Amino acid sequence: MNGIRKGVRKARVAAMTVVAMSMAALGPGSRVAAQVAPPATNGLPGTQGGAPLGDLTSLSGDAKVWLQDLIKINTTNPPGNEQEAAKYILRVFQKEGIAPEELPVAPGRTSLVARLRSSAVADPSKALLLVAHLDVVGVDKAKWTVDPFAATIKDGYLYGRGAIDNKAMLATNMAVMVALKRANARLNRDVIFLATDDQEQGGDASIKILIAKYWDKIAAGFALNEGGNIVLDGGKVKYVAVQASEKVSVNVAVVARGTSGHASMPTKDNPVVHLSAAVEKIGGFVTPVHYTAIVRRYFEGLAPLESDEVGKWMRALDTGDRGEHAARVISDANPQWNAMLRDTIAPTMLNAGVRNNVIPAEARANLNIRLLPGDTIDGLVLDLTKLINDPLVKLDVQTDAGLAAPPSSLENDFYADITKIAAQEFGGVPVLPYQSPWATDSAQLRLHNVQSYGLWPFPLTAEDLQRMHGNDERIPLASFVKGIDVESRIVAEFAVTR
Ligand SMILES: [Zn+2]
Repeated sequence: MNGIRKGVRKARVAAMTVVAMSMAALGPGSRVAAQVAPPATNGLPGTQGGAPLGDLTSLSGDAKVWLQDLIKINTTNPPGNEQEAAKYILRVFQKEGIAPEELPVAPGRTSLVARLRSSAVADPSKALLLVAHLDVVGVDKAKWTVDPFAATIKDGYLYGRGAIDNKAMLATNMAVMVALKRANARLNRDVIFLATDDQEQGGDASIKILIAKYWDKIAAGFALNEGGNIVLDGGKVKYVAVQASEKVSVNVAVVARGTSGHASMPTKDNPVVHLSAAVEKIGGFVTPVHYTAIVRRYFEGLAPLESDEVGKWMRALDTGDRGEHAARVISDANPQWNAMLRDTIAPTMLNAGVRNNVIPAEARANLNIRLLPGDTIDGLVLDLTKLINDPLVKLDVQTDAGLAAPPSSLENDFYADITKIAAQEFGGVPVLPYQSPWATDSAQLRLHNVQSYGLWPFPLTAEDLQRMHGNDERIPLASFVKGIDVESRIVAEFAVTR
């Protein structure tokens, strides 16, 4: 990494490219539309009136350089090594006159916090926390068409591990902080930037530890984090899903035990056979449907956007006579909808045997279970034990379970501002509360009374989202620029006095 100065020079050129791209995204009528190749997300609406924090064009160019530089700093977790990325952000902030503070959590692992003050005495209950994690998941390099840590730009996309999850959000949060600072915005609440470690593993350097060690530095009443989507479909934003709740991950070991022996003389208690039978039964098990208030509102809001047939069954989900059939239709149509309606069980690992010719004494499978908030693992384990109905097979709940948190409220000013700005920015599309099947740092925050909402502010297609944690992760640059616009407007609406 060559430091920030070089980055700024590059930013000038980059800014021009980004402007051209984002203007091209305005579609017909844009002055430059005819001169540049349209980006992949052609059709994104442009900015809606004057930006509250001034013209963000040059800042968007800077942010693109930050995102590229952050991708180039390999923070694959494990081991994470987030310190280098934290120090990079520290230098950017220092140059902008924002005073950041490093929060050491483990060797090589540092979180970073920075605060823009509204008054001499902080009121944590009002403060807004902008959260993003520094670490990324690993890559299967052979399956990528570009170097995952080179931050390559191709056909209007920026490629790299973390291009969406979550370095785009990190760079966007940085941009919003810098925009507030450059505009000398009059804040009505503190705005706190927090870059966290170890989100992907949730281990000893995670937000859990930050909350335990540094709560006074990050205490806030509200938070914006990853986890919800601006759904781009057919070149248009279809709807916006704001994560207000999440499912809880629990691992359960399925352990079959029998007598070890020579494979030439098989016995009836071979644990490989008993485990296989158990896993097959689990694979066919359908958990009951439970609605949470958020899921109910999500499907109500989504129904008018779907085909008549799917919309009809979404509306019938909660009816006594047709609900069961409706749930089946919706579950079959879409694995994500299925995961919103019920606890899910995915067998993810199998482990047995030491030699080709030895019957092992033990065979194990791992079940990754995602519980709806409010459901308990004990009840499900009881159901599965009955289903397996085999004294040689035991279920063992592992200790690495996530924590169930209450949902964030849908009735406060912050949620109202997110909803208002998101609808404004995308031509009045529905903004729906969302319960994500995946886990984020927000659960820990919600358990500490923070009203935390998840929204990647970038319009993204399902195809782009699928690449997160997969191969060739990428973000359309026009969407990244739009995300900076969207998030800065949300934060200005909530935290800036006009
Ligand atoms: Zn993430």
